[in-house]
Amino acid sequence: MIKATASGILYIVATPIGNLEDITFRAVRTLKEVDLIAAEDTRHSRKLLSHFSIATRLTPYHDHNERLKSDYLLERLREGDSVAIITDAGTPCIADPGYRIARAAAEAGIRVVPIPGPSAMVSALSASGLPSDRFSFEGFLPPKQGKRRARLEELKGDERLLVFYEAPHRLAATLGDMAELLGEREAVIARELTKIHEELCRGTLGELAGRYGSEGVKGEVVILVAPPPEQPSTVTLEPEELLRQMFKEGLSLKDAVAATAEATGISRRDVYAMALRLRDG
Ligand code: SAM
Repeated sequence: MIKATASGILYIVATPIGNLEDITFRAVRTLKEVDLIAAEDTRHSRKLLSHFSIATRLTPYHDHNERLKSDYLLERLREGDSVAIITDAGTPCIADPGYRIARAAAEAGIRVVPIPGPSAMVSALSASGLPSDRFSFEGFLPPKQGKRRARLEELKGDERLLVFYEAPHRLAATLGDMAELLGEREAVIARELTKIHEELCRGTLGELAGRYGSEGVKGEVVILVAPPPEQPSTVTLEPEELLRQMFKEGLSLKDAVAATAEATGISRRDVYAMALRLRDG
């Protein structure tokens, strides 16, 4: 048993999103050692736990009883018991319950420890082949079309890669709205990750909307949408031409260099050298 001196520790434990081999050694050991496991669906989690011979007591913890259950779990933690939170798949608190208890524990001065592992979002992103240096995880879009389209309108100007979770029966409609509102961007549908029918399907939003509209889709999906293509620069003049015009208009060397550097994205030093060459003949 893991016993802390005063209060217990709350572990946020990631579990597989399909393939059971993806559980970590540390997750298995933690789940074996804690006093209590709070699971989103105890029947579902029992299968995972019995596969790894984990005999720890389970208690249900889900969206509908989260507040009430948080008080109970907090009490147990205060008494010195250690508790682990798991969900049906992946990392708790990522489009899943867990946030309320993590927050309540932190506010009560109880240590909260992450046991990292699988998440559909990170897995999809890692294999997408899309530029992932900056991204926004959007979770599930609203299921009603009006609200969904309003959210997509808000996201239209976002310059980051966008990651969404979606239910399979809404995939075609959502892709259709995305193609219309976000434009013809590159996208990837990551389906059934780590499972037998795993597939990563690439195309434009319009192509993917067409494909899934006619074929339908089974299983779990993540939608990744590439950032909008870079807008061509509005400056069509060459830097020398810009400098000449500005000199003609009577701008000082300093001002002409600053304005040209800003308009063209060329460094001030280089523009300055250009300006001197022009001025001195
Ligand atoms: N907490 C989980 C995580 O860390 O990924 C996500 C839970 S959320 C309720 C469930 C959604 O995650 C699904 O509707 C789907 O969009 C995505 N998902 C979960 N497992 C997946 C898988 N194996 N392949 C693709 N998407 C998956």
